[in-house]
Formats: sequence, structure tokens, C-alpha cells
Amino acid sequence: MVDLSVIIPIYNEETNIPALYERLGGVLDPMRLPGGYEFIFVNDGSRDQSLALIENLAARDERVRFITFSRNFGHQIAVTAGLDRAEGQAVVIIDADLQDPPELIPQLYQKLSEGYEVVYAKRRSRQGESAAKKLTAKLFYRILASITHISIPVDTGDFRVISRKVVEALRRMPEQNKFIRGQISWIGYRQTHLEYDRAERAGGETGYTYRKMLKLALDGITAFSDVPLKAATVSGFVVSGIAFLVMLYTLYARFISHDYEPGWASLMVSILFLGGVQLIAVGIIGEYIARLSANVRQRPLYIVSDSNIAPPGEK
Ligand code: UDP
Ligand code: MG
Repeated sequence: MVDLSVIIPIYNEETNIPALYERLGGVLDPMRLPGGYEFIFVNDGSRDQSLALIENLAARDERVRFITFSRNFGHQIAVTAGLDRAEGQAVVIIDADLQDPPELIPQLYQKLSEGYEVVYAKRRSRQGESAAKKLTAKLFYRILASITHISIPVDTGDFRVISRKVVEALRRMPEQNKFIRGQISWIGYRQTHLEYDRAERAGGETGYTYRKMLKLALDGITAFSDVPLKAATVSGFVVSGIAFLVMLYTLYARFISHDYEPGWASLMVSILFLGGVQLIAVGIIGEYIARLSANVRQRPLYIVSDSNIAPPGEK
């Protein structure tokens, strides 16, 4: 068993892989880990030369292990596949685009020996990302924090060091809709953090489209909070309450004061409003049901097309 596994999800990162490998080696070698370390590259269906580069590294360096998927399954699933096969006593999760500085790894790792099981890296600032991305991310973390019972740290991605205990716990969480930073908070144990300034992407382009970000956000919320469902119920009661009062008034106007107008405007407003509230409530329920059915199907999370690591359980 090695001391440290470094899990690197890869989606179209050909411009970054050589520099990443160099920088990681430059940081990990001086740590002089007695048990050594391993890299686990998880190629998440890249369409560029990423896989060829990884295979090349694996041929030259026996510490380089890889898993390649049959298609793009998404960042969280790529990390999960890495966790499934990591052998290290501790595991680092790091992005391939050098936005997470490898130079922080020794400090994160150091904290484990102080008795922590999770040391995450919190973003003090973010460079080279659009104002819209920063704003939506900031809002998302705060909304999530306000509607869950577990405390999921704000402004924190998956860049962190976790101990073997946490890896084992993650392997026992079979959910399909992965939100790993939330799962790790849920697991508990002693957790701490260090702050860092997030750099720009070294090369290439982000693989996180707005669609993928929305999926991640909804996975995070639905997996760790029932507040949206409760909000749908509460808004249902509030709106029906208002509708009941309006109904009383309508009856009064029709039969008692005989003061009724054609009333097109009020009719339109109430129909549109009620329709909107109903659609929102149904949509929220739909989000949860979609995830329920995904979990009931019990499909494997990902399909591996090639790997130089034996699958878990076959060692
Ligand atoms: N990534 C992945 N699958 C995807 C999208 C991204 O494995 O479908 C990887 C990507 O190669 C990188 C990490 O996940 O190592 C973070 O992605 P990215 O840098 O594109 O996201 P951003 O930093 O822009 O949020
Ligand atoms: Mg990035």
C-alpha cells in the first residue's frame, strides 16, 4: 500500500498533462514518502490526445495508473472511479488544469498527521473566471449551506486530502447523483481547511458547461436537503390561503354587493400565478423523483474501457 494516491480527473486536458505531471512530481518527490505515491488519471471520455499522453506516462513511470471511460460520465463520477481504485493511505483529489496548486499538497498532507481525516482547500480568491461563474458559485454555496443540516463548507471544490477511513466510507455510499464534497461533509470525523488563491486554468478550456454546473448544483441540493420540497408544500398552502380569501370576496361581490366587474385582469393574474406555482412545485418534485428512479435502476456508475489497475475486489 502506498502512502498517497493522487486522483486526477481528465477531460480534454492535453495541454495541461505534461506540466501537471512535472509539477506534481516536483512537489511529491521532495516529500520523501516512505511508502511512495501513485497517480490515478481518470480519463473521462476526452476527445483530444489526453489518453495517449497518459498511456505514454504510464509506460515510462510505473507510479502512473489510469482508468479510461467508455464516454464522458462527468467530473464527480471520474473522481469516484479514482476513489474506487486508490490504494493510498491518504488520497488527494486535484483538478488537471493546475487551478489547484500542487504546491499546497505537502501542507494539506501535513495536517493529516495532526489528527484530521479531511483537509480541504478553500478558495480565498478566484482568478480568470467569468463574473457570472463566480457569482453563481458564490450564491450556490451560500444557498446550499442555508438549506442543509450538515455543514458543507462554502467556496470549496474537491481539492483536498482525505484519509483512508474517509475513502472507505465514500465507497460505501452508492448514490448515483454524486456530490463528493457534500458526501465528505456528511461522513464527519475531524475536518479542517487551508486557504489558497485559485489560479487561472493553465491551458485549454473549461469542461464544465453551464449545463454540467446546473446538474452539479441540483445534485448537491437534492442529495443533501429536503427544503425545496417543504418550500413547495408551504407555498402551496400560502397560495391556497390567498385563493380562498379571493374566493370569499368573489362570492360576496357576486351575491351580496352585486358589485362585480367583467374582471378579466384579476382572472388572468390568478390563473397565471396559480399555474406558475403549480408548475414550480411539480418541477421540484420531478427533480427528486428523477434521482430516485436513477438510484432504483442500480446501473453501474461508469463503464471502464481500459485500465492498468485491477478493478476493486479482483486483487
Ligand atoms: N472534468 C472531467 N469531466 C468533465 C468535466 C471536467 O473529468 O466532464 C475534469 C477536468 O479535466 C478538470 C476537472 O474536472 O480536471 C475540473 O474541470 P474544469 O477545470 O473544466 O472546471 P472549472 O475549473 O472550470 O470549474
Ligand atoms: Mg478548472
